Amino acid sequence: MLTCNEEFLQPELMDVVRLFEGAQELPIAQTMRYESGVFENTVALDGQAHVFRDEAVCADALQYKSLAKRYAKLALYHVLSERTGIRLPWGALTGIRPTRLAYQELEAGRPFEPLFERMCVAPDNIALTRRVIEGQRPVYERREGNCDVFVSLPFCPTKCEYCSFITAPIAATRKYLPEYLAALRQELAAAGALIENLRSVYVGGGTPFALEAEELAEVLAAIAPLRKNGCEYTVEAGRPDTFTREKLEVCREHGVTRICINAQSFSDATLARIGRKHTAQDVRDAFALAAPYGFAINCDLIAGLTGESFEEFCASVDEAIALSPENITVHTLCLKTGARLKEETSRLHEGRLADMIAYSRAALTAAGYEPYYLYRQKYMAGAHENVGWAKPGTACVYNVDVMEEIADNLAVGANAVSKKLFAGGKRIERHGSPKDIPTYLAKAGQLIAERAALFGGQR
Ligand code: SF4
Repeated sequence: MLTCNEEFLQPELMDVVRLFEGAQELPIAQTMRYESGVFENTVALDGQAHVFRDEAVCADALQYKSLAKRYAKLALYHVLSERTGIRLPWGALTGIRPTRLAYQELEAGRPFEPLFERMCVAPDNIALTRRVIEGQRPVYERREGNCDVFVSLPFCPTKCEYCSFITAPIAATRKYLPEYLAALRQELAAAGALIENLRSVYVGGGTPFALEAEELAEVLAAIAPLRKNGCEYTVEAGRPDTFTREKLEVCREHGVTRICINAQSFSDATLARIGRKHTAQDVRDAFALAAPYGFAINCDLIAGLTGESFEEFCASVDEAIALSPENITVHTLCLKTGARLKEETSRLHEGRLADMIAYSRAALTAAGYEPYYLYRQKYMAGAHENVGWAKPGTACVYNVDVMEEIADNLAVGANAVSKKLFAGGKRIERHGSPKDIPTYLAKAGQLIAERAALFGGQR
């Protein structure tokens, strides 16, 4: 139970508390004061007061809040780390993407490493951040008017056990599909006037390949007028058990440049345990089926899946590398609220999880992949991260733009969040569409008008 004299710090501090198992039960009282250019944080725990002082000049209210959060979290992290003997891989960094913080420092004319060290980030993660910034350099572009388009297809063949996306088995939602496709067509037709420089298109889910080839063709045909400049075009095809030649053909006909084969693991036992209705052989078959089309391929893996051993995970990494996709994304299991696995945290052996991640980094590096994007989520097992790896020259523009928030994002469909950047990206306004399909369908017309207002109407 944590209390703090400043209300705006409470949620930030709770993010730190959640990183330490059992800390939520500890009676912690934190006080923060800012006087004469010094942040003073007093953390009372076990009848002892720990005082931390950090000098900082705040230019405005925004900077005050940002630095207040930083030093309050750092103070609490020190106390909990000492109390539990646990050092976390990203130290007291929560609530901000590591690369974004690094860029902030670099843009201020400072190397980012000293701040990361101060925030107790592990040296290998400081090195990883440096590599990610280098890895994304070829596609990183800050320019007013840059925009990416996301098309949401929240349909899946079946619901996987660990997933908390708003997506439903297509057998239950197929009845909405004709109306859904019509709504997407309307949204996409209205989008053209709002986009200045299209950087990429991403058709995601769910599992876009849960649709039949003709249905997928309808979606891609509605996207075609937007994509006159031949920019990067991803269809997150998805689960390998949905792959057919016809769907790949549809992608080729519409100029798709990149697809995803979401393996997650190459262990059949793990796949069965997590409710994926496909096998490792299905993944190999999907790669073989896609090979003649020449798409760049991304393959997803997850570290920390329930019951998966270190050896099984390493074998999955090796097998993914052997299939030689352009991109491999290594996620850490995210224990999202609502997912059943949230209750199974204790099953994860965090020591081995760290070993899994270390193995993936070493193996991918040795195979010639470079990390090019990196993000963390709130309930990630072991407080680790997700990393996208790419062979040279194959970094995905969409992922970099979205993770670094350096371009507008125009997102259509149910459960899609559009983002518009203002003041060179210093301010971001969001517009979300309803998560469930019937509500989305009822509001499609209204969403088009709201988005037009956010994006400023006609160019
Ligand atoms: S296929 Fe992906 S989006 Fe669909 S239920 Fe499984 S994990 Fe979730």
